[in-house]
Amino acid sequence: MTELVAHCRLEGAAAEALAGQLDAAIRLWGNEAFHVCCERSRQELCLSLSAPGWRRLALAKARVAGEIRRLPGCATLALAWAGDGNPERLGHVQRWIVTGTRLVTPHLRRVTFRVEEAAFYAGDLHHVRLLLPQRGGGAFAFPKACPAGLPIWPEGELMPLLRNYTIRAVRADREEIDVDFVLHEPAGPATAWARDCRPGDEIGALGPIGWPVSHAPLRILAGDETALPTILRQIEECPAEECIDAYVEFADEGERQEVALPAQCRLHWLRRGDLAEALRARAREDGDAVFAYAGAEFATSQRLKAVLSDDLGLPHAQFRSVAYWRAQAASPA
Ligand SMILES: Cc1cc2nc3c(=O)[nH]c(=O)nc-3n(C[C@H](O)[C@H](O)[C@H](O)COP(=O)(O)OP(=O)(O)OC[C@H]3O[C@@H](n4cnc5c(N)ncnc54)[C@H](O)[C@@H]3O)c2cc1C
Repeated sequence: MTELVAHCRLEGAAAEALAGQLDAAIRLWGNEAFHVCCERSRQELCLSLSAPGWRRLALAKARVAGEIRRLPGCATLALAWAGDGNPERLGHVQRWIVTGTRLVTPHLRRVTFRVEEAAFYAGDLHHVRLLLPQRGGGAFAFPKACPAGLPIWPEGELMPLLRNYTIRAVRADREEIDVDFVLHEPAGPATAWARDCRPGDEIGALGPIGWPVSHAPLRILAGDETALPTILRQIEECPAEECIDAYVEFADEGERQEVALPAQCRLHWLRRGDLAEALRARAREDGDAVFAYAGAEFATSQRLKAVLSDDLGLPHAQFRSVAYWRAQAASPA
């Protein structure tokens, strides 16, 4: 695919605000599917991005601009990309059309979408932010692009609801993507949408987002049903020279899926509440060859963070524990 290039020039106070903060950020982007280069002179700072294809370039613009705006003192920096890509189109926000659904387990519904250029979602970024109507059967508007390549969201009833989900599978040759929705009760809006959707229904997707999968020689994965899609995908895509040791807690036996495990992967099914203890009981592994990833309800994810750090002795750079959802009073679907 053709390599496309965009650049952004900052002068004076804006350049100063960024200088000195960019090196760490650029290191973080190092394992993404795009390249960032920064040239500095006394008064000027020029950022260049290159990426294969216009969608990747749009994703790179949004990721870099979003991260820059989060740096101290940079929230209102005026960033404007020039160069390749259509400044009016957000290549990383797409319309997805439902083509089929099936129950994988009693509380897990797989929705298959037809997605233009589905290959864009293959790779090590597994998550997307879905754009859904605020009410069942209602409409929403897609965001427009600002010069920084970030979305400008519509207001009022046309503002979509945003929920994070995982790309469970990509079949690029058929332009298909699967997402597995946990049917929790009472259903929130995303769950109600997934429960009721029919072929032909449309939603939006922004991404892929999040941190890329970490390719350590040994990956320890842990989570509940909501993290199962990334855990199973990581197992399916695990290269022969890497190992995965996965721990999944579930509410009842019916939620257990038949999984064909590659020889170098292990998967432990646990009862709800046993995740932290199972990890704690695990032997420490020495060295830098381990990376751990956990996804679960907020309180569990906090416990797992403590176990990974205190009991398994992993330094912060070698694990991530993410709150996938938060137990709280339900809002009406
Ligand atoms: C990176 C990431 C990837 C994710 N991937 C997936 C995925 O592939 N599949 C998936 O099903 N979920 C996934 N999730 C979790 C999903 O985003 C949340 O469960 C989300 O809150 C569901 O939205 P909702 O509109 O149904 O409910 P909300 O409106 O968010 O919440 C309504 C009520 O439901 C409760 N609730 C929300 N989720 C659950 C749950 N899982 N179990 C029990 N109660 C719940 C809330 O506490 C609240 O009371 C992911 C989350 C993250 C951060």
